[in-house]
Amino acid sequence: REAFGPSPVDLALLAIHQDLKGITDGEPSPSIPALANADPDHFGIVIATADGHVYETGDTRVPFSIQSISKAFTYGLALEDRGFEYVDSKIDVEPSGDAFNEISLDPVTHRPANPMINAGAITSTWMVADKDGTPRRERIRRLYSACADRELSIDDDVQRQESAEGHRNRALGWMLRSVDIIEEEPTQALEDYFAQCSVMLDARDLARMGATLAAGGLNPRTGERVLEPATVQRMLSVMNSCGMYDDAGEWFVRVGLPGKSGVGGGIIAVVPGQLAVATFSPPLDQHGNSVRGVAACERLSQALDLHFARGP
Ligand code: GLU
Repeated sequence: REAFGPSPVDLALLAIHQDLKGITDGEPSPSIPALANADPDHFGIVIATADGHVYETGDTRVPFSIQSISKAFTYGLALEDRGFEYVDSKIDVEPSGDAFNEISLDPVTHRPANPMINAGAITSTWMVADKDGTPRRERIRRLYSACADRELSIDDDVQRQESAEGHRNRALGWMLRSVDIIEEEPTQALEDYFAQCSVMLDARDLARMGATLAAGGLNPRTGERVLEPATVQRMLSVMNSCGMYDDAGEWFVRVGLPGKSGVGGGIIAVVPGQLAVATFSPPLDQHGNSVRGVAACERLSQALDLHFARGP
């Protein structure tokens, strides 16, 4: 490629990064010191294709915590461990329009509205099994690593801070216990949820995780089957309707792709069969979505003609 200069995709990434890096709206998440102290200037954009190619620009090697993006992947693991029927009896798949930390349990079935709000996510984590002597938390870490094709690790400081500030999540865990959605003391599941939120990665890892979803659960670089196609279809469907907190509708109008954001400043968006976009920029809007990240995804969706409802 070098002989011919940068590719059109590289040029699009560079132009978008250049145009958006001056945006100063939003603030890093105040929820824990590790997030509040993030450098607001960091901004990276990556595209990883379903056949293993990566295009990147900006701060794509800066580590940050995965936070809520973990919810989509842990949901996938719960589906594979417990089967769709059981998981569906525990978590609904309806967009709630609520904030991520809303209680949001159905008055009749007691199910959380979807796996992307915390109540649903804690339930997913609880459903992941210890298997063959490997505890739940490690199985979750291994799944994320297999999707990213790199050994990812849990940051002890972030995890401690999540746990120290996790009162509302604990309240959700015990609420779920009280209605028998979670069928045992939720303490371990909560600590494992805090740990999964504290997995560190960079925008390239995130794009590769997304590319594994774009490839229907096959890691594009290793060819390893990490998730079953039916699982990935479900994960992407729920990301589509519920992935962007209480801004999922607006996101879909603007970007037209299944996506998931985290309060660490990351976003992934997936074009099934083709590619994934990952962005990293810590300042968040009032919904908890990265301001520059949403803008970059919208611009890329336009530039590369990725919107689900694009014309013929
Ligand atoms: N650890 C955060 C929480 O559960 C994750 C929130 C997020 O990324 O939305 O509150």
